[in-house]
Amino acid sequence: MNSDLPSLYEHYILPTYGRFDLSIDRGAGSRVWTEEGRELIDFGAGIAVCSLGHANPRVTQAVTTQAAKLVHTSNLYRTRPQAELAARLVRNIDLDGKIFFCNSGAEANEGLIKLARKFGSATGRYEILTFRNSFHGRTMAGISATGQEKVKVGFAPLLEGFQHLPHNDLEAVRAAVGPKTVAILLEPIQGEGGIHLATPAFLRGLREICDEHGLLLLFDEIQCGLGRTGDWRGWKSIVPVGVEPDGISWAKGIANGFPLGAFWVRNRELDERGPLCNLLGPGTHGTTYGGNPVACAAALAVLDEIEEKQLLAHTRELGTYFAEALCSLQSPLVAEVRALGLMIGLELAADFKEQLGLSDSRVPSLALTSILMDAGLLVIPAGERTIRFLPPLNVSREEIDAAVAILRPVLAQK
Ligand code: PLP
Repeated sequence: MNSDLPSLYEHYILPTYGRFDLSIDRGAGSRVWTEEGRELIDFGAGIAVCSLGHANPRVTQAVTTQAAKLVHTSNLYRTRPQAELAARLVRNIDLDGKIFFCNSGAEANEGLIKLARKFGSATGRYEILTFRNSFHGRTMAGISATGQEKVKVGFAPLLEGFQHLPHNDLEAVRAAVGPKTVAILLEPIQGEGGIHLATPAFLRGLREICDEHGLLLLFDEIQCGLGRTGDWRGWKSIVPVGVEPDGISWAKGIANGFPLGAFWVRNRELDERGPLCNLLGPGTHGTTYGGNPVACAAALAVLDEIEEKQLLAHTRELGTYFAEALCSLQSPLVAEVRALGLMIGLELAADFKEQLGLSDSRVPSLALTSILMDAGLLVIPAGERTIRFLPPLNVSREEIDAAVAILRPVLAQK
């Protein structure tokens, strides 16, 4: 069968993505099927989004029940799913604060950036320190905050007030703090940049610097948060005690694919301005769809399933199992395996393409992603030389074994 999808895309969809030649029709758990009926193991989960896998019955039930009851009201009124979800998220992270709901990760970071600006406005401070290789979304503020040049090309002038510092370098941060600095924003585990973990000392040091200079510590947990590392709080998988942020952004895994983002703001007394979590008062920020009842019902189902099935512990256990299996391949094509829970990066050797004799002109991560796709396994490229495995948190040992069985001959060939 000749599919009309490539031609429809070519004619009617803006060519902003370097899409793979694959048309996905349906999914179930850790598997997807193409329009032609080919089955693939999906260890990308929509880029760390479908935490419970595709077509999870509990999420489907929650979405359909809520959709039959109330889809949307705007934020002029209250709805129960939004309030319950906020309360559950705050309880899960075990830090006092309040939540704003939006629709995507980029919007969640926009919210944190606006929070920092508002916080600093009283003293004329607006600069936010971020890190090289980071990724914070595709809006103008998102690309301005992102520490990768490639996302900014052609979009000047960018939003001013960002400095991109070397990752895990406390001295560079200390040296960069100035009279205009108001906040530090970082991904505790860089995702798009290639699965790079902040060190415990770096996270502790950042908190100290923020306390010393009255800065906000903001964590972008859009990819690493809400269970992906085996903890609701990604940063706690690195440093279990002693580091508490002032703001957190979430999206991706929050609602198993239903568009939803959120940012949390700590309940911390400022001065005469009251608590930080009340700084964005009526009229300062908003969105029409954010926190709509269907998305929130989906997210509540995700939290229920993770709790009832004890998927945080499962994620830690199977993350270790998967990472060990990858290390045991002992392939000269692999430079390093970096993993925390089910956020796993496999960095390829610098001469990966030469070793394999590949004529593919694309970067190694894209070349390998294509090879694996043809062999029946979906993974996600991250940077030029890393591929990411981000399977659903309820993935089984058998599914991991099946993925490794696809990977093994590819990484063994020379
Ligand atoms: N921040 C991080 C760490 C991300 O990984 C992403 C998406 O990959 C974003 C922000 C942007 O999220 P969204 O694509 O939902 O706008």
